[in-house]
Amino acid sequence: MSKYEECLEELEESLPEYIRTIGEFQHENKKWQISNHYFVEKPDRCQICGHYPIKEIFEITSTGNILKVGNVCINKITNTKIGKWYKTTYKKIEQLKQNKSKITIISGMLKDYENDTLPFSMSSIACERFEKMLDRLCNGLNLTKSQDGLFYAYIKRAADYLESAEE
Ligand SMILES: [Zn+2]
Repeated sequence: MSKYEECLEELEESLPEYIRTIGEFQHENKKWQISNHYFVEKPDRCQICGHYPIKEIFEITSTGNILKVGNVCINKITNTKIGKWYKTTYKKIEQLKQNKSKITIISGMLKDYENDTLPFSMSSIACERFEKMLDRLCNGLNLTKSQDGLFYAYIKRAADYLESAEE
């Protein structure tokens, strides 16, 4: 599995994992749990507060009863910030997907550095910086401006190397 796939899987799995950590909760003297989570094309109504329209549904279950709940009410009844946390995590997943090529390039470069097969020179300080950049990208964040600068400087170095190798 590539570094990118690994990071994507980790972020995607953190979604159902969050639901597992909530487990059972009390709502109107009954024990409930979140049984499903999905998005709908056709807007729906929150079955707790009546809010319309909702497009993100958290389904909760208690002995045969199922309620469709919006992302505001789910926070209240579970006493968590799951609605907000999910939203943040989707954004991170989107960001991660956009940074797929950077993740692939940096992880490949670090592997070559480790194996001493990198065709151009890289200092150990730069290597540490690239490791930090990779962590950041894997967490669904963008590179900082200076990190981006370093990234493109090394891309240029790699391109220059390839060009000179062709001659
Ligand atoms: Zn509601």
